[in-house]
Amino acid sequence: MELYDVIVCGGGFAGAAAAISAARGGAKVLLIEYNNCLGGAAAECLVNPFMPYWTHDENKKRITLSTGIFSEICREMRKLSAEAEGAKYCENDALMTTFNEEYLKIVLQRMALSAGVRLLFHTRCVGVKKSGQSIEAVTVSNKSGIYDIKAKCFIDCTGDADVTALSGCPVRVGREGDGLCQPMTLCFRVNNVDIPEFNKVRADIQKLYKQYRAEGKIKNVREDILIFGTTSDTTLHFNSTRIVKHSPISAEEVTEAEIAVREQVFELFSFLKKNAKGFEKAVLASTAMRIGVRESRMIDGEYVLTQDDLTGCRKFEDSISACNYDIDIHNPEGSGTSHWYFKDGTYYTIPYRCLIPKGADNLLVAGRCISSTHEAQASYRIMPTCCTLGQAAGTAAAMAVKGDGKVRNVDIGQLRKTLTENGMFI
Ligand SMILES: Cc1cc2nc3c(=O)[nH]c(=O)nc-3n(C[C@H](O)[C@H](O)[C@H](O)COP(=O)(O)OP(=O)(O)OC[C@H]3O[C@@H](n4cnc5c(N)ncnc54)[C@H](O)[C@@H]3O)c2cc1C
Repeated sequence: MELYDVIVCGGGFAGAAAAISAARGGAKVLLIEYNNCLGGAAAECLVNPFMPYWTHDENKKRITLSTGIFSEICREMRKLSAEAEGAKYCENDALMTTFNEEYLKIVLQRMALSAGVRLLFHTRCVGVKKSGQSIEAVTVSNKSGIYDIKAKCFIDCTGDADVTALSGCPVRVGREGDGLCQPMTLCFRVNNVDIPEFNKVRADIQKLYKQYRAEGKIKNVREDILIFGTTSDTTLHFNSTRIVKHSPISAEEVTEAEIAVREQVFELFSFLKKNAKGFEKAVLASTAMRIGVRESRMIDGEYVLTQDDLTGCRKFEDSISACNYDIDIHNPEGSGTSHWYFKDGTYYTIPYRCLIPKGADNLLVAGRCISSTHEAQASYRIMPTCCTLGQAAGTAAAMAVKGDGKVRNVDIGQLRKTLTENGMFI
């Protein structure tokens, strides 16, 4: 059986960046992904755009907080869209927010392959072989069968902390007290919209939506319609369905959620088609391949990041990532969304210890399931930050396998130096 230095489970922003950075660090890397491409929630759940990942210094000069591999991905997507579509979406010095996920999928794939990462798609990690504190192999399930794959070090980027949970390491789910997670949302796209016409009635349509909700004509518990632009002039992106009080890690409850949320898509699309100017010729183009999960398991790691760390803009000695996205909590019980915003010029950092689960020597975790509270996760869960967490985990894993294989023994000074040399703001 082939032995890898590093196995990364999950190929979202965190997993792709982890695999690329580990391979660039000299490790022999396998990335295992359940779906048919890299990109995770952006690819499978149609999540878009990138939420803000920058601030300004006292001279109003921009400080970009998510850099390194994330900046490279944005650059490569711009280059590709320039080749394919002309210069329209390609202002090279501007920050990227809205992006085309088809470019993302191929850019991540090319970056991973050129770094030397081996990809294994259509494959789910379903088990872990562990000896004491050391993970020896992950058990995978795919069309070839059910079998083990060995490595010296593992990175759990499944979003749901599957590998950590399968390893018997402690995890938490949802908020303290009742364990409820942020709602799940099925994103969808509508084509053929006359957006300038729609913009003239946007505010009225929001009012009418609220009225319909009050009258019980709309069942969706979300308080308003959350709409984003796309890279097409006639397509709108809807992040506006809402399923609450369903566990994202129960197959039965997720099935119920998928069934209910599909009705919400048609309810909202029909409402717009009937009432909104600009929607006369609109076509329901696509729903995401699966419902989007904002929050599920989080590991219980060497440090638990809290809301106080965020609001105090704490800077950790072992920081490996920086973020200032607001604490954005979609009500886990029903209607309403709360925000706590960072003042311009401020940000917090995330310590390496949040990536280290208790109970394993050779496992790191990156992405939305690192060690934190529900409130802290509501901020760093955005794609740009997940990407930086992945880069940090991959870099650390490559260092660990050159040493004794233990992720706790990675030299933090050397890790931070390498991340900085590789373009990261930490
Ligand atoms: C509805 C919704 C709207 C959001 N809106 C925004 C937004 O506007 N802007 C923003 O920046 N962020 C947004 N986010 C947050 C962001 O999309 C996610 O938090 C982020 O993408 C998580 O990245 P990740 O790499 O940790 O996990 P994911 O992107 O979820 O990737 C995990 C990958 O692991 C794979 N996987 C899972 N389990 C296994 C397994 N057992 N074996 C093998 N593979 C497995 C999955 O197929 C997936 O590809 C939103 C999230 C949701 C759900």
